[in-house]
Amino acid sequence: MFYCPTRIIFARNAVQKAKSHIASLGQRALIVTGKKSAKQSGALADVLAVLTESCVSYVLFERVTENPALDIVMEGKSAFWQNDCDFVIGIGGGSPIDAAKAISLAAANALNRDELYNISAFKSVYPILAIPLTAGTGTEATQYSVLSDPLTKKKAGFGSDLAFPVLAVLDPQYTITLPFKVTLHTALDALSHLLEGLYSNQRSPLVYPFIYKGIASIIKFLPIVLSQPENYPAREELMRDALYGGMVIAQGSTTLQHSIGYPLTSFYNIPHGLANAMVMEDIMELYYPAVQSELDDLFSYLQMSKEDFFAWLDSLPFERKIELSDDFIEKALPQITGSRNMALNPLPVSEKQIRTILANLKK
Ligand code: NAP
Ligand code: FE
Repeated sequence: MFYCPTRIIFARNAVQKAKSHIASLGQRALIVTGKKSAKQSGALADVLAVLTESCVSYVLFERVTENPALDIVMEGKSAFWQNDCDFVIGIGGGSPIDAAKAISLAAANALNRDELYNISAFKSVYPILAIPLTAGTGTEATQYSVLSDPLTKKKAGFGSDLAFPVLAVLDPQYTITLPFKVTLHTALDALSHLLEGLYSNQRSPLVYPFIYKGIASIIKFLPIVLSQPENYPAREELMRDALYGGMVIAQGSTTLQHSIGYPLTSFYNIPHGLANAMVMEDIMELYYPAVQSELDDLFSYLQMSKEDFFAWLDSLPFERKIELSDDFIEKALPQITGSRNMALNPLPVSEKQIRTILANLKK
């Protein structure tokens, strides 16, 4: 099965090119962003120009921080209602876009804070426009939103077909302002999504062309972008790869690779993509017996061995180890084993195996 109800416009000056589609979404937009990047990248100015030219009014909600909290979604719902909005525009990395999705659902279904993961309460949604500024999450083409509860330190996602953006507008130019580390971490998130498309027990060969092409392209172009941040063609490649990653996980979801990363983010503030990357090698080794033919086919397409791939990963400048407190593993384990992605592993994973992977992260 392949399902992607999102109209995707991917181009230079994509926002101008998408003008008629944007104008058809409603009369008054709630624009959901983080603090700086929507302005810094130029995306906000482009969107405001198109809205003004199309006589669509808007209200800015610029309060989303990384790993968006349930409380921010509630604030966004109030802003949406108070201003009589009828659609949302998420401009940012995964955090503002995921918040925009949840705000739309919360406003349409009058959800309270404790209902935000309760997909059975989701009956309708206001149109969602996603404009990504990172080349990582692929959330512009997924039904997921990942939210954090600061009270319980739980980070988890929900998936609902209602959360697919109706329109995704991607302009690689916006990613040129990404700092070095965010470029690296978000690309590793995209790589993780593409690999998980082979790992998931819901994997679908329909998306293998995206997976193969996306991984080959990240291997080639990530080092180029890291040394030449303004290289537009290379940035364009990475943004397309991240979109592929979104389209891939929209079909088969993610696995332990993501479940294990969530507590690293909520307890230690490790950026999402970095958290995935830190366990990437161990997860591949863990899953290898169950997905050997899928991985061998991938590596033969890439014309590299698993060891070559690990050597490439090793060449990237990201942290592998952290100071873990002694009680971290006990606190993280129930979150990991209880996460919905655990059901998608390609083989049964024991608590002991998870403990070993977490212990390997210790400095
Ligand atoms: P992010 O948390 O949205 O942003 C990270 C940082 O990068 C922020 O400081 C942001 O600034 C800055 N930034 C973003 N774009 C920029 C640009 N073009 N130029 C300069 N700075 C920029 O990062 P993300 O990795 O894209 O999103 C991570 C979140 O998405 C996590 O919560 C993760 O769990 C979730 N996720 C969702 C899905 C899904 O399918 N829904 C999939 C994977 C991950 P501002 O604060 O100023 O914006
Ligand atoms: Fe991710």
